[in-house]
Amino acid sequence: MRVNITLACTECRSRNYALTKNKRKHPDRMELRKYCPRCNAHQIHRETK
Ligand SMILES: [Zn+2]
Repeated sequence: MRVNITLACTECRSRNYALTKNKRKHPDRMELRKYCPRCNAHQIHRETK
């Protein structure tokens, strides 16, 4: 039920986080506020394929 995803910064598109998510809890594309080292700030990170 858990699936591997990658989170990419919506500002600079760099892929900063790899994690697993619960597909039942989050059937759609996830968005999380996380720190982006390239932007040097917290940005919205969106799930990529
Ligand atoms: Zn960024």
